[in-house]
Order: sequence, then structure tokens, then C-alpha cells
Amino acid sequence: MDFSFNEDQEMLRKTFRKFCDKELTYEYVRWMDENVDFPPEELWNKFVEIGLFSGPVPVEYGGLGMGQVDSMIIYEQICRKSMSVALAVGVTMGFGVRFISELGSVEQRQKYLPLIAEGKFKTCMALTEPGGGTDILGALSTFAEDRGDRWVINGQKVFITGAHVADSLITVCKTERDAPKSKSWTTIMVPRETPGVTIRKIPKICCHHCESVEIFYEDVEVPKENSIGTRGNAFQEIMTVLNPERIAVAMMGVGIIAAIYEQCMQYVRERNAFGGPIGRFQSLQNYLADMYINLENSRNLTYKAAWLCDHGKPYHLEATMAKLVAAEGARHAGAFGSEIFGGYGICNEYPVSMFLRDAYQIQFSPISNEMSRNMLMQFQGLPKSWA
Ligand SMILES: Cc1cc2nc3c(=O)[nH]c(=O)nc-3n(C[C@H](O)[C@H](O)[C@H](O)COP(=O)(O)OP(=O)(O)OC[C@H]3O[C@@H](n4cnc5c(N)ncnc54)[C@H](O)[C@@H]3O)c2cc1C
Repeated sequence: MDFSFNEDQEMLRKTFRKFCDKELTYEYVRWMDENVDFPPEELWNKFVEIGLFSGPVPVEYGGLGMGQVDSMIIYEQICRKSMSVALAVGVTMGFGVRFISELGSVEQRQKYLPLIAEGKFKTCMALTEPGGGTDILGALSTFAEDRGDRWVINGQKVFITGAHVADSLITVCKTERDAPKSKSWTTIMVPRETPGVTIRKIPKICCHHCESVEIFYEDVEVPKENSIGTRGNAFQEIMTVLNPERIAVAMMGVGIIAAIYEQCMQYVRERNAFGGPIGRFQSLQNYLADMYINLENSRNLTYKAAWLCDHGKPYHLEATMAKLVAAEGARHAGAFGSEIFGGYGICNEYPVSMFLRDAYQIQFSPISNEMSRNMLMQFQGLPKSWA
């Protein structure tokens, strides 16, 4: 068993670490958090130049065809600096690439994947509705009416990350009135500028430089060729496409824990109380020890899930555990890290305050911690809390 990265992976890690240290300083990240709702073009173009978006795109469509482990090595470096930036690039590099390359027609792949590799096409994943995210099968009611050569869509989505800047809203709609719920969904690519689409921002406490929005669809007409995957089969299809999202979200938790731990270790050496550094107080050392253990556990689980995915082995449970352990570890690091900083822990000048807020977004998304625990046991044969 070998837990180390190979030479190429180590080079990838170093390159992106250097890039992120330079381009994602806390001063810049804080500026973004206070002034923009999505990373500016200037930063996007720097990511294009370093080849970020070509990473996961298959080689035949202008990309590098990277697997999950390599993608996560890069992603870890972004997550340590800004969860908003990680989300902003992730909704296209993750959802967009997987939907189109795994479910798209040859024409859709040829049209969109090269554009994604060049950083010229942004997507978002519009699944959740106001009626509930966990029980999405019960709640989804956005309906796409079959009108021969086109769909006419009416309904509403909520909490859709990056939809306000996306070129295409990858929208999951109900299309079959009489089929069982699990056989009644179809995924449809809706250009954001289509008449009838309205977007409203949702003010929230975290991840300010990658907003999540409500989308209203009112008699939105798109051609039938915008369907992606098989008609009626989207529920099954998106479950497989969305599984790797848990690995990426777990990495966001890893990034938050790593960032807070690093800042705290520096602070406890510099800050003095009662005639010496606060790092000599055992209670603070205990907080740090727990962060360190959570970092190790969540990082190992995340890379293990990525490795299993790359090797074609089942990874659903590992990805769910990774997301759960990393999310709770990030919340712990935020809570105790800010206490280590005393009053400064809640001041915007100190990065720990941003990471503390951002940690809350991964407690329930893409799957809640409660549902993650239920699923883990229910996959071991205990009675289901969903049906
Ligand atoms: C900032 C943000 C960004 C998001 N980005 C996206 C996006 O880009 N695209 C998208 O489609 N969605 C997105 N989501 C939606 C996200 O996936 C949902 O919020 C999530 O699925 C939870 O759904 P809910 O908020 O409706 O909570 P609910 O489903 O209403 O859950 C409420 C509570 O009930 C609990 N619960 C429900 N069922 C069970 C059960 N069977 N067992 C135990 N507990 C249960 C939950 O754990 C939770 O504590 C985002 C959400 C937010 C807030």
C-alpha cells in the first residue's frame, strides 16, 4: 500500500500550490468576498492560462483527461484558499464536464467540452426545488411540456450555485405525467438568456464570492436537442453523475480545516498571554490536536474515495463518509479556530472568520450530514428513511 503521490502528481501539487499562494492571497479573497458575487474574469483567465479547465475534459475534446485523484490534488490547493472560488470553478469542471461527457450526445460533447477546456463556457446544476432538497424525488415539480420539436418549461429552482453567470442552466425537469416518479425526469440544458428565465439572488452568510440563486422558469422554450441523457431516466443518471460531487465537497472541508489549522498554529506562537505564547496552554493544544486528526482523517478518506473512483471500484459509501467527516471537521475547526483567535476570530481582517462561515455551506449540501449517516447504515441493511 502506498499513500504517497507519484512524481507527476507531486509536480502538479507544487505548481498549483505556488499558483494559489500567489493569486489567492487573503487580501484578494477578502476583497472578492466583500465586493463580487463570482470570481472576476481576471482571475478566471489566470486559471485558463494555467490549464485548470482542461484538466477533467477528455483528451479527444481538447482536455487532459485527468482522473479524480489528480483533479483533487489541484482542487485541494484552491480549497485551502477560498471555498467560493472552489465552488465557482467546480460547478463547471465537475457538474458540467461530467454531465456532458458522460450523458451528452457526440454533438453536445463536440460543441461544449472544448469550450469548457478553454474556460469559455460555464454551467450550473439546477436540481433543488423549494419543496425540499433531501426528498428531491418527492419535491421536484418543474415541468417541461413536450411540444413536438421543443420543451416548454415552467417551475422554480432554489439554491443554484453559479446560475447567475452560467451560460447553460443544466435543469432537471419532470417530463412524464403518468410514469412512476423515478422514471419521469429529463435533464435539459437551458441557455441562461432564454426569455422566461428570471434569476434572484439569495442573501446568505457564507461563500459570498460564489452566490447561489433562485431560478424562475415561465414558459421557457428550448429545442428538444437541448435534452441531455435519456428521456425519463434522469433520476438514475444524475445519481451516478453526482456521486463524485461528494468527493469534491469533502475536499472543500479538507481545505477549510487545513487553512484554519495553519493560521492557528502561527497565531498561537505569536500571541502572548501571562508572559508567554498562548500555544503553551493545554486547552488550545487540544483544539489543535483535534483539528490535526480531523484533517488527516478527512484527507485520507477523500483521496481514498477518489482513488476508488479512478480504479472503477464502488466508492459511494467512502465519498459519503469523506463528505461527512470533512464537513463536521470544518465546522469544528471554524468554531474552535475562531476561539483560539479570541475576539479577532470574528473580525473580517482575519481569514478564520471567513472559513468559519463558509464551513456551514457543506453541512447540508449536496447531502445533509443527517441523511449521510442514515444512508451509511441503511446501505448496511438497516431500514430506510427514504423510499
Ligand atoms: C448555498 C447552497 C448552495 C447549493 N447549491 C446547489 C446547486 O448548485 N444545485 C442544486 O441543485 N442544489 C443546491 N443546493 C441545495 C442543497 O443540495 C439542499 O439544500 C440540500 O439537498 C438540502 O435540502 P433542503 O435545504 O431543502 O433541506 P431539507 O431537505 O428540507 O432538510 C431539512 C432537514 O431535514 C433533514 N432530513 C430530511 N430528510 C431526512 C431523512 N430521510 N433522514 C434524516 N434527516 C432528514 C435534513 O438532514 C435537514 O436537517 C444548495 C444549497 C445551498 C444552501
